[in-house]
Amino acid sequence: SGPLARAESLIAVIPDYPSPGIQFRDITPLLADADAFRAVIDALIAPFAGTFDVVAGVEARGFLLAAAAAIAADTGVVPVRKAGKLPRPAAAVDYALEYGQATIEVHDDLPRGARVLLVDDVLATGGTLAAAHELFTAVGAEVTGTAVLLELEALGGREVLGRVERDIHTVFR
Ligand code: IMP
Repeated sequence: SGPLARAESLIAVIPDYPSPGIQFRDITPLLADADAFRAVIDALIAPFAGTFDVVAGVEARGFLLAAAAAIAADTGVVPVRKAGKLPRPAAAVDYALEYGQATIEVHDDLPRGARVLLVDDVLATGGTLAAAHELFTAVGAEVTGTAVLLELEALGGREVLGRVERDIHTVFR
């Protein structure tokens, strides 16, 4: 019961998207609801109060959550972008997708030792957030926590990400 339970009920499950056999979790109905959005942002950052200097989000759904979390926590926000989008010197990390590979980048201008809270919508295989973690390490920052709305536990992402990150928080599982 309460706003978090309602928020969870607003996550749609879309069968066979983007390919057959995939059950895609669509958080857009949750984001569109003021009370649900507020409740999940508060729950996302609650365990990490006072432990981070900036919030980072991975393009593109992670941007929506990271920006709101940063405002709620009174910090700035750092975008982790797909390759080729950032205008200034950036670090890059390649990682494996289910089919093929991807590259994510972040500007190399954070203060040394900046404490980063990494956020994303869904933890699936863990590859994306493990790569993001590596990225912040490469630019001299420190990931002090990772928070996701939803963890697809059967995909084992917690084990993969857990090799580089200890503090993983999930709002819904
Ligand atoms: P991973 O790298 O396999 O953990 O996949 C996580 C990335 O893929 C995140 O950036 C998610 O936004 C996206 N993703 C994977 N599965 C889903 C899903 O069911 N719904 C929404 N995004 C997903």
